Amino acid sequence: MREFTYTSAASIDRAFSALEGHEYPKFIAGGTNLLDLMKENVERPDHLVDITKLAFKDIIENEEGGIRLGALATNAETAYHEQVQKRYPLLSQAILAGASPQLRNMATNGGNLLQRTRCYYFYDTATPCNKRSPGSGCSAKNGYNRMHAILGASEDCIAVHPSDMCVALAALDATVNVASRDGNRSIPFREFHRLPENAPQLDTVLVPGEIITSIDLPPNGFAKHSAYLKLRDRASYAFALVSVAAALDIYEGIITGARIALGGVAHKPWRNTEAEAALTGKAATKANFSAAASQILEGAKGYGDNDFKIKLATRAIIRALEMAAETTG
Ligand code: SF4
Repeated sequence: MREFTYTSAASIDRAFSALEGHEYPKFIAGGTNLLDLMKENVERPDHLVDITKLAFKDIIENEEGGIRLGALATNAETAYHEQVQKRYPLLSQAILAGASPQLRNMATNGGNLLQRTRCYYFYDTATPCNKRSPGSGCSAKNGYNRMHAILGASEDCIAVHPSDMCVALAALDATVNVASRDGNRSIPFREFHRLPENAPQLDTVLVPGEIITSIDLPPNGFAKHSAYLKLRDRASYAFALVSVAAALDIYEGIITGARIALGGVAHKPWRNTEAEAALTGKAATKANFSAAASQILEGAKGYGDNDFKIKLATRAIIRALEMAAETTG
């Protein structure tokens, strides 16, 4: 591990100023992913700025009548928050499907968005990896790629985003609020994570020096009809092979609004708004769910070990939509 210096910032201004004069500084909060990456020499910051004292911990109602999740609230605090459980059960379910109780107690909401892929080769510094070392190649494409992408991959990278929470946030159309010395901005969740294209080293659209302050959930939490379905190799503490966040508005058996986000299949939580629009106005039936699943998986491509994910994702979408249609809040 590279030697590093450390600042504990008591204010956001101090956090920004503490970045100055360093070659590769990083913010740290829960550290549940970053410290692993540092120990493996994948991340090599020369300076850590501890932001855990900053005032971004609250979970409160926002101006639009939705909920604002503080970036430094833990995943556990968020999943078990009374209003989140009541109004956004999809988010609560997704968070509790991820990691372990110990990790959820440490991991923050902002950190969850910034966690990096669990591609085996990304962590193995003896192998080529364009995400870790741009231009070195992708070991997964012709290697062992059971966990890898079937949608939105590029010649340079076929990794998937590992978060469960982010799949629900994508389905809920959340907004990510960020701050920097240059001011504040809000990023629609669907634009926050990137596809790999020819720059897989970049996971998100954040620029250096930006810090996530909060995540806004819109008023509609699809509390009556939503479900998070996660399929994985063992029943707990495993990343998704495929996961689906399904949310429906249904009136007299007819779908009046649909959201479907997939995890474990792409470099970012995967949405297909055309398939969602095509479901709207239709009856909540298995035949219509099946048509939506086929539309979402159109163009999906396996790389050998992960070919099974195409059928698995198709079936998972149908099942998650059936579960969502059955729920009554
Ligand atoms: Fe690296 Fe991406 Fe290839 Fe994995 S899939 S080895 S993260 S470039």
